[in-house]
Amino acid sequence: MTRPTRALLKWSNLRHNYRKAREVTSHEVYAVIKSDGYGHGMVACANALSGEADGFAVACVDEALKLRGAGIRQPILVLEGAYDAEEWEQASEHHIQLAVHHPQQLKDRAAAELSDEVAVWLKVSSGMNRLGVKLEDAPEMIARIRNDRGLILRHVMSHFATSDEADTSFYEEQKRRMTDHAWPVSLSLSNSASVIRGGVTGEKVMRPGIMLYGSSPCEDITARDAGLKPVMTLQSALISVHDVKAGDTVGYGCTWAAPRNSRIGVVAIGYGDGYPRHAPTGTPVNVAGKLCQLVGRVSMDMITVDITDVPEARIGSPVELWGELVDIDEVARLAGTISYELYCRLTQRVPRINLQ
Ligand SMILES: *Cc1c(COP(=O)(O)O)cnc(C)c1O
Repeated sequence: MTRPTRALLKWSNLRHNYRKAREVTSHEVYAVIKSDGYGHGMVACANALSGEADGFAVACVDEALKLRGAGIRQPILVLEGAYDAEEWEQASEHHIQLAVHHPQQLKDRAAAELSDEVAVWLKVSSGMNRLGVKLEDAPEMIARIRNDRGLILRHVMSHFATSDEADTSFYEEQKRRMTDHAWPVSLSLSNSASVIRGGVTGEKVMRPGIMLYGSSPCEDITARDAGLKPVMTLQSALISVHDVKAGDTVGYGCTWAAPRNSRIGVVAIGYGDGYPRHAPTGTPVNVAGKLCQLVGRVSMDMITVDITDVPEARIGSPVELWGELVDIDEVARLAGTISYELYCRLTQRVPRINLQ
């Protein structure tokens, strides 16, 4: 028998969530599959959506080249654009679209020999102030791009800093800054949180990521409310069951003491698999179909769960850490992080099992 820990990937749910994004408006939807498809497998995600995605978005040219190497034919946008002249040439050769967020990238382009035109998306900062040119510098950048016969200005894009928050005032302000402007090409603004909130009137291309995997970034809207279905289910099993007396402590640091005589189930998963070490006592874990609570500290290979109320639980009983039964957003919140990080940190030790 092998270790029971595994991540099931239900690709039909990725397609379901993609269609949910599509339903919002008639806009085009570029599926964001950077960072190995948020830990789900970038090429597997692209293949699962190859019949329907309008395009894909990744962080860097290396990721785009990997998709082209795997035979993906759809448009691909690189969100950070080219890092140097050589990447401009690679983008041109492989028909990869590039964000342009800084004048340095146009200098690099001038040093490149393009074999074909490159479609570019001008990235404007409307309040995020991470990547992007200032709104007031956009007209000059647009003129420079349009005067370059090797480049085609495809869209103007911007990214939201707070669209996940229940207080939507700064989100609305960023939308207004972008839509009040007269642009010569159409806009791409929405991330998942903005898509879940209905998108932006007048934009042409939305760029959802996390919602495609079945998780809601919005603090006031759950994935279930948004009609999303989890792609990943992280499973393991009990490898030990034993009883402790009231007052006995469990695990490193003796951080949890049994408030009553209790039964403890030991699950074969830990931070060595990517389960968050900061998940506190009380984090939901489903054991044999029943909702239980993690108790004590998360170790590298194991966690301990209070299964006193699951008398039928045995060594070998199935455990779900997140997925269909346990909301990853709840686990992430309790662990002081976001689902994005939990997905991305799942380690190579966990076998991925592909389901239809
Ligand atoms: C990652 C990213 C997205 C997708 O964000 P989600 O919150 O996962 O939907 C969209 N646009 C840009 C520029 C990004 O970097």
